[in-house]
Amino acid sequence: MFATLSDRLADTFKNLRGKGRLSEADIDATAREIRIALLEADVALPVVKEFVGAVKERARGEEVSGALNPAQQIIKIVHEELVTILGGETRRLRYAKSGPTVIMLAGLQGAGKTTLAAKLALWLKDQDKTPMLVAADLQRPNAVQQLQVNGERVGVPVFAPEPGNGTGNPVDVARASIEEAKRKLHDVVIIDTAGRLGVDAELMQQAKDIRDAVQPDEVLFVVDAMIGQDAVVTAQAFLDGVGYDGVVLTKLDGDARGGAALSIRSITGKPVMFASSGEKMTDFDLFHPDRMASRILDMGDMLTLIEQAEKAFDSDQALKAAEKLGTKGGFTLEDFLQQMQQIRKLGSMTKIMGMLPGMGQFRDQLENFDEREIDRIQAIIQSMTPAERENPKIIDGSRRARIAKGSGRQVSDVNQLVDRFFEARKMMEQMARGGGMPGMPGMPG
Ligand code: GDP
Repeated sequence: MFATLSDRLADTFKNLRGKGRLSEADIDATAREIRIALLEADVALPVVKEFVGAVKERARGEEVSGALNPAQQIIKIVHEELVTILGGETRRLRYAKSGPTVIMLAGLQGAGKTTLAAKLALWLKDQDKTPMLVAADLQRPNAVQQLQVNGERVGVPVFAPEPGNGTGNPVDVARASIEEAKRKLHDVVIIDTAGRLGVDAELMQQAKDIRDAVQPDEVLFVVDAMIGQDAVVTAQAFLDGVGYDGVVLTKLDGDARGGAALSIRSITGKPVMFASSGEKMTDFDLFHPDRMASRILDMGDMLTLIEQAEKAFDSDQALKAAEKLGTKGGFTLEDFLQQMQQIRKLGSMTKIMGMLPGMGQFRDQLENFDEREIDRIQAIIQSMTPAERENPKIIDGSRRARIAKGSGRQVSDVNQLVDRFFEARKMMEQMARGGGMPGMPGMPG
């Protein structure tokens, strides 16, 4: 799910790396690429238009922050807009104030309703609820039996019409189930209703009759995310025909392109409440728009880092440092020290590096990273005079000996630091002139 979209967006962001400012042309090109990425992911056209429009407007607006470079700013905007189209806040179940909470499921046959019913029951059981499942799908052969098997798997009782009692009437079954739940003290009732292969009037009428008979606290529309744009059409038909409070997306583990997930909220105005992502009964959870957006952007904890960077960085200072990098030799040991202290505010080096995407491969080195190394570097720089920090070239042999003594380190440590500083400065100056990583300011080498 979302793999192609993630790759596409990552490529778009890559093109922005190393840019100091975004020109109108950069913004247009970026917007165009995002548009193609979304269309290829099968996102509904009106949703794409709104999304791209919002990103463009915000990128153009004066939303500049000294802490973030243009690539990071765009990532941040795209992330926030993704959260918005996915519904913003996580929508949680509403429970009845008195008596059992009644949840009714509706959707097409094969959407994953019966499976979902059992998953939801297990999830509720894990929250100390005492759910009961109701087999009101009397259309599909075996539907009752399938629910009974699933109910058994998750240890939740199933209310079903007696076998051999004719086909029974799903509305009567649903109504009777509420009485049964009250008698047996179940606090949640999950009613599985019949689906059809396509939307039809009879199906809608039956679902409506069940709804009117049991007055559910929540009607959930269950839809297979793999069916792409069709999901949106079906969602609209059920909205008009039966109405519902929330959506459950199933089969998110498949290789669907993600269009359904990204369009459904904007088109129907109803929140996605749960996501089902596999054949196992535990492959199910509340749908969190922010987590889903992060997953789409596939940025590790890059987004967390961006947030923290924004909080911790003194933007004036960062801007000044960036300007200095533009002039050869302008960046001093004093700037280096200040930046290190800024980075320090973000947390431990191990943690920061761990949050950068692609750093997983260096896990061993990261775990062995000695945080005190930074303290040592700081101590050495702090033993220098302001003149030495401004112009490290003057640090000759006798000064090195003095600095080593002052900081309690060896002369070789001072040598190493000064050498590394010159190397790092050269590298940063090159990066400032174009190319290179989206810039966290100078990391010690
Ligand atoms: P219903 O007709 O709506 O009740 O659908 P079912 O619950 O019978 O599910 C239809 C098929 O989809 C079954 O083969 C399920 O095992 C499968 N299925 C349901 N949910 C998921 C899911 O989240 N992921 C995957 N991969 N398969 C699922």
